[in-house]
Amino acid sequence: MRKALHFIGGRLVESARGRWMEDLNPATNEVIAEAAAGDGEDIARAVEEAEKAFRESWWAKKPRERAKVLHRLADLLEAHGEELARIEVLDTGLPIGQARGQAQRAALNFRFFAEEAPHVVGESFTVEGQFQNFTIRRPVGVAGLITPWNTPLMLASWKVAPCLAAGNTCVLKPAEWSPLTATRLAELAAEAGVPEGVFNVVHGLGEEAGAALVAHPKVKLISFTGETETGKIIMQNGARTLKRFSMELGGKSPMIVFPDADLERALDAAIFGVFSLNGERCTASSRLFLHEAIYREFLDALLKRVAKIRVGPPEDEKTEVGPLIHPQHWERVMGYVEGAQKEGAEVAIGGRRPPHLPHGNYLEPTVLVEVKPSMRVAQEEIFGPVLSVLSFKDEEEVLSQANDVRYGLAAYVWTRDVGRAMRFAQGLEAGLLWINSQNVRDLRTPFGGWKDSGIGREGGRYSFEFYLETTTVHVAVGDHPIPRFGVGEA
Ligand code: NDP
Repeated sequence: MRKALHFIGGRLVESARGRWMEDLNPATNEVIAEAAAGDGEDIARAVEEAEKAFRESWWAKKPRERAKVLHRLADLLEAHGEELARIEVLDTGLPIGQARGQAQRAALNFRFFAEEAPHVVGESFTVEGQFQNFTIRRPVGVAGLITPWNTPLMLASWKVAPCLAAGNTCVLKPAEWSPLTATRLAELAAEAGVPEGVFNVVHGLGEEAGAALVAHPKVKLISFTGETETGKIIMQNGARTLKRFSMELGGKSPMIVFPDADLERALDAAIFGVFSLNGERCTASSRLFLHEAIYREFLDALLKRVAKIRVGPPEDEKTEVGPLIHPQHWERVMGYVEGAQKEGAEVAIGGRRPPHLPHGNYLEPTVLVEVKPSMRVAQEEIFGPVLSVLSFKDEEEVLSQANDVRYGLAAYVWTRDVGRAMRFAQGLEAGLLWINSQNVRDLRTPFGGWKDSGIGREGGRYSFEFYLETTTVHVAVGDHPIPRFGVGEA
């Protein structure tokens, strides 16, 4: 049986208490691995190693030396791309083609932040004739990185790369349902020359290992990606030790299509936006708003295409949608589909297990119609292959409905009218807006959400803002006045 061990201080280790968690293959629900189940004791060991490594090796390295190591890691990730993609397929049910894309992106994240780190500069503030003030940027120390299960390797790299590039050390706590690539990433990092203790992995339950990491007084930063409710608990638990947080949370992103759009491309984007990554995507365009003039035509075309989406084993090259991560998550997603029907929505297609796939957590790509903006399926994050379709009459109506959710992560607008597109850019409450585009990321841009979708931004220099401390240095260049106490008559 495959084992996912902790990686602490440069060594693969079992949990201090010798406990294990089962890891399932989403395509069969068979146990494929055992992951070490860590707790406070393992976290304490990992934080101690990370602290020591911060002081003794990593911080002292020149940014270019750190960058060199991270470039070597990017090379190794590229060389092992196929292996990593296959592990991810086994662990998460991501279709192989998409898992390959995520593995490439993981390598790119390391390369990108390795390239950016040496360019981090301070700012200078001149006060003519009196002062030269400037800032120095320095790493913070030990970071706690907590990731979800949807794209585990890519999301780990999105945090580990800027964290290490900036000169910090870290302890990564991967999701309990997808532990495998995290340990492999740590092994490859060691092979690339990342010194012992710089990058540690502790597996375990969120409530145990995760909570201990958040509560540890020597951990200064917490970068978290996951559900909004978990994020709130983490912030409460981290408050006692005054953590700095980056929170990438849930979403319920709208895609708005106007009649003047390139409807064929909009259709491709609508389908890919919600059904890629098995629908387990934080920026999924899970609410499709169609202008009433094109509602019928667009919906008919959509349903024809959705009927032909290939649902199947994730290792099959042809598969477009694979199984959901876990039986519990399958139940949760199905609960939304059933609840929607009770509230008056209709299943236009899907909404059931594909008959040809009796085992595993498969669900047919599902389109819900007759959805009202107040329904749960139009308000809450489902995180599965379920699309809610709504129609609208005019800009004002759709803008208010698009914004009328607790989330504000992403939005997508399809129109050829530049003025209208800009009005949406100014009016939509979303951290990310794509106009006439699918979800294509430029790693330099800020990534993050408004409202319940998160706090802070990561990406490019925004990641460095989070992973670096600032010292403002004030240098007198002349004789500025210094108030003189104690020189008067007593
Ligand atoms: P969860 O919030 O359930 O878990 C995320 C991570 O937090 C896991 O490692 C989990 O451990 C851990 N955790 C749970 N409880 C605690 C705790 N008390 N203290 C510390 N850590 C804890 O999210 P999911 O894994 O279910 O992932 C899906 C969610 O992630 C969705 O809401 C999705 O929108 C969001 N997401 C957001 C993205 C963004 O960039 N905005 C990108 C991708 C996903 P364990 O696995 O043991 O529960």
